[in-house]
Parts: sequence; structure tokens; C-alpha cells
Amino acid sequence: MKVLIIGFGISGKSACKLLKKLGYTISIVEDDRKINNSDIDRLLCGLSFVVVSPGVKPDSPIVKRAKELGINVVGELELGCAHLSGKLVAVTGTNGKTTTTSLIGKLLEGNNTFVGGNIGTPISSFADRTNNDSITVAEVSSFQLAETTSFRPNIAAFLNFAPDHLNYHKTTQNYLNSKLKIFKNQTQSDFAVLNADDKVVSKIKLPTSKVYYFSTKKQVNGCFVRGDGIYFRDTTKCVPGYLKAKRVASVSDVKLVGEHNLSNAVCAVCCAMLAGRKPEVIREKLSSFKPVAHRLQTVSTFGGITFINDSKATNPASAVCAIKSMTRPTILILGGSDKGLKFDDIFKIKNSYVKFYVFIGETKKLLASCATKHGITNYCCADTLKEAIISSIRHASSGDVVLLSPACASFDMFSGYEERGKCFCGIVRELKRNENNFHNSHEKT
Ligand code: ADP
Repeated sequence: MKVLIIGFGISGKSACKLLKKLGYTISIVEDDRKINNSDIDRLLCGLSFVVVSPGVKPDSPIVKRAKELGINVVGELELGCAHLSGKLVAVTGTNGKTTTTSLIGKLLEGNNTFVGGNIGTPISSFADRTNNDSITVAEVSSFQLAETTSFRPNIAAFLNFAPDHLNYHKTTQNYLNSKLKIFKNQTQSDFAVLNADDKVVSKIKLPTSKVYYFSTKKQVNGCFVRGDGIYFRDTTKCVPGYLKAKRVASVSDVKLVGEHNLSNAVCAVCCAMLAGRKPEVIREKLSSFKPVAHRLQTVSTFGGITFINDSKATNPASAVCAIKSMTRPTILILGGSDKGLKFDDIFKIKNSYVKFYVFIGETKKLLASCATKHGITNYCCADTLKEAIISSIRHASSGDVVLLSPACASFDMFSGYEERGKCFCGIVRELKRNENNFHNSHEKT
């Protein structure tokens, strides 16, 4: 039994370990772009199947040829999930996946709970440790879903939808189609959890799954916000005792900033209720959940200015949510690598607290011309992140916020959003130390 693994990052390595334990002979292609066409047929000869890592493009010549030859091509997600025991909760959407997946993991915490997928821990790294009592919570991206054929979560949540990753999916419809594959194999015993407040997600029609909704605005079948409470209602009686809405938690139990995070929390509560968690456990766990790093993370305050790292805002929709979450005058650092997305929504926000914009990276000129188009002139451009932070401080007064919420990927200047966020935190802390040293040396003289 021979398997070829394409891509040997964290997913490829985990797939390799799992398959070796299962007795397969493995061959590996680290970088599919380096394989000559003449070597492809030799590599594919006698294979049981091919495993592709999430970064491998669907039009990769080796993947295309494998499909032509009728060889099954599976993603690492599909492979890992095929070897899972117990229940599977999966979360997708354009924004909020990591936050919501981590929160569901927290609400369902226990000896047999696993959290993985796109969040950094491949499912195949722990699949063989699950048993019938296990619950796995998986973050699933459109790239991973694109390569699935039999993936079937017991509970599948779709958070929201906005244009993203056009450089990979080519059209918004392709991107949506990939995401919809989360529901494709669900049966009548599986739950779909949909955002009733999202104009695309709320309209999804699913003939097979048991459909529940979550909302911060309307009273739905599922989980919703009413007044200062988070309520659950189940008119289809899958969760006994909730024919009439009952309060599960308070809005104040959610310690995350912004309406978008309340939406994530309500989704997580809905999934936890459907998974059979008791409201009192949900309430307690919800109130102790802290934001995941690089997502509206308060880094420091000095000179009266608060610095917030939202480096994970890698598309305009997430930056819009960050801006709407601000409650004080804000200097916004925007920009990064170009994914072909439009920035207009950022500059069209009504009653925005943003008083000055600093643009950086590959997209800075695009951002500047988009801002100008919307009549915005209070901006400048910077060549480095440090220069951007220093410019922001110059335009800030005591009580203001400096927010890094770039609306773009980071690959023009960094290895990823984490490096960009760490760099932001590092510069802010260095400037704070220098300010302290400056004050101390003045006090001494
Ligand atoms: P993902 O894993 O989908 O990228 P994250 O939880 O990592 O989601 O958050 C990514 C970015 O999107 C962060 O900037 C975060 O503040 C923002 N965000 C989180 N939840 C939402 C949401 N429901 N709608 C829009 N933006 C969101």
C-alpha cells in the first residue's frame, strides 16, 4: 500500500506519521513546483491514493495528472477525519473561525476533547487517540474543504461570508462553493448552524441537515441575543426542554470586544447546546475565555495611547468589524500584500472613530487612491511598520487608540500575520521602554 504526500509542512508530516502507523509505504514531494512532467507518472505509479497539503493548488500538474489517472486525491483534513472516532464539530466562514473554534473547544472542554484543523494542529496528529466518547472541534478553511469528498461533521457552523482569497479561488462563487462543502455529506441526524444576520449565509438552503440559526439581532430557532441575555430555543426538540427560549448566559459573560465577537460567541453557545453541554458549564467557560493573540489584542498603553494588535485582520470585512468595535478616536494602520480585494467598505463606515489612516505595504497606493475617492485626506504612507507606528503616535492624543488592522495578507513584508503581529507588539514595547528610559533619565537630571 503506497501513498504519495504532496507538501511536507505540519499537515504533510502529521499525515505521514498517521499513515506510517497504519502500515502504508510513503513517498513525499516537498514542493510540487519542482517536479518535472517526465517524473510525474513515475511518482504516481502503483499508488493507493495521494494526500495533498492545504497550500497545494488544485491546478498543480501532479494533482491534475493523478486525477486523470483515476487516483484518489485527498486533503489532510479528509484523511485525519476519516480516522476520527466520536463526534466532529466543524467551523467555517470568512472571519472568526479561529476565535469560534477555540471558544467551542473551551465550552466543550474535557478529557476527550480535541481542537484542530486549520487552527494549527492537524487532525491527523491526534485522530488515532480519539475514541467513541471524543469530541473534535475543527476549524476548516475553504482550501481544505475544496479537497474533501466524504468529510461529514455532526455539527457544522458557517459564520459569515465576504469576498476573500480571490487569488486562489478566482471567483467569489468558487470560494462560496468550497465553503458549502462543509454540509455536503451531512445526513438527517447532523446539525447545520447558520448565521441569520449574514446576508449570504442566512439564505443557504440545506434540504438534509437539521438547520439551526444564531443571531445577535433576531429571535431564531437556535441561539440569539435578547436584551442582556443569550438564549437558546429548539422548536424541533433535539435538545429537550427548549421549546420555549431559555436564557443560557449573559451578554456580559462574553469578554471579547465587538459585535462580531458576540456573534461568534452566540454561534459557539449554539454548537455547545447542540453537543449536549449544560448551560451552567457554558456560562462558566464563556466568562473565562480570553481573545486569541493577534485578534483585537490590547498590547500596551503608554503616553495615554492604547495599542491594539489585530494583525489577523487579513481581509477588508475583518478590518471593518475592528473599526466598528472602536469606542475612542483611532489611528488605523492598514495595508499589506494584495489579494485583489476592494477596500471601499473601510472608507464608507458611518460614524467611524478613525481620525487618521497610515498605509503600508504593497497595497498602500491602492488604499491611498481608494481613500481619496471617498473624500478622505487625513492619511499618510509609511515604508515600514515601525515608521507607521511612529507616524500614528504623532497623530494621536492621550486617550486615543493605535490599531493595526491591515485588511490585507502580510506576505509582502512578513512570513505571516503572526510575525507581523509579533513585530507590532515588539516595536510598541520597545517604544514604551524608550519612553520610560527617557522619563527616568529626565527625572534623574
Ligand atoms: P479566521 O480564523 O477566520 O481568520 P479569526 O478568529 O482568526 O478568524 O479572526 C480573524 C480576524 O477577523 C480578526 O481580525 C478578528 O478580529 C476578525 N473577526 C473575528 N470574528 C469575526 C466576525 N465574526 N466577523 C468579522 N470579523 C471577525
